[in-house]
Amino acid sequence: MPQSVVIATGNAGKVSEFCAILKDSAFSFLASKDVGFSKEVEENASTFKGNAEIKAKAVWEHVAAKYQNYWVVADDSGLEVEALNGAPGVFSARYAGENATNVERYTKLLKELEGVNNRKARFVCYLCLIRPGKMPEFFEGECKGSILTAPRGNGGFGYDPVFLPEGYNKGFGEISDTEKNTLSHRGRAIRNMLAKLNSEALT
Ligand code: IMP
Repeated sequence: MPQSVVIATGNAGKVSEFCAILKDSAFSFLASKDVGFSKEVEENASTFKGNAEIKAKAVWEHVAAKYQNYWVVADDSGLEVEALNGAPGVFSARYAGENATNVERYTKLLKELEGVNNRKARFVCYLCLIRPGKMPEFFEGECKGSILTAPRGNGGFGYDPVFLPEGYNKGFGEISDTEKNTLSHRGRAIRNMLAKLNSEALT
């Protein structure tokens, strides 16, 4: 039987990236809503790592009470812009207010950067994995790049239409999901986690 892993997020974009990256792995993935978890978790830590742990623990409490031997993995991620001293950072999802759309968020970002020459930015992803009887484990991934001056393409989610990965001439909004997963912060963090799990399986 494949190991069941609950992805502790309500973000459909993240879930579909997890499933695509891990489709050939030894794990079977479920979204939090598949195990009946639909609460809004307050992400009040000041770091991606802290927020990933808060989300993983909230879903873990729910899952451990109902299922035996399920694992939980949470992703906290966001965009850090150098000229904005790392903003929006942990506030990436709430940058233009609680109920803003992706377009409103990246439009606000483009406005803040109007006339700014330094467009350097990076996406960051922290994963927190909780397994029965183990301490929470953390995995990190980053993707360096820059902020475009206008949106390009409509692939991906969130800030993808305004992000140009370093060394590429196409933005995250213009490339296929498969291509994004090979270079994204989330793809890297997930592969770091898999490397650890695979190394355990060999010992
Ligand atoms: P949270 O991790 O749920 O707090 O939200 C992270 C926010 O960062 C998302 O709502 C997006 O706005 C943004 N974000 C994280 N990862 C990506 C990505 O891969 N592409 C575009 N935006 C992202």
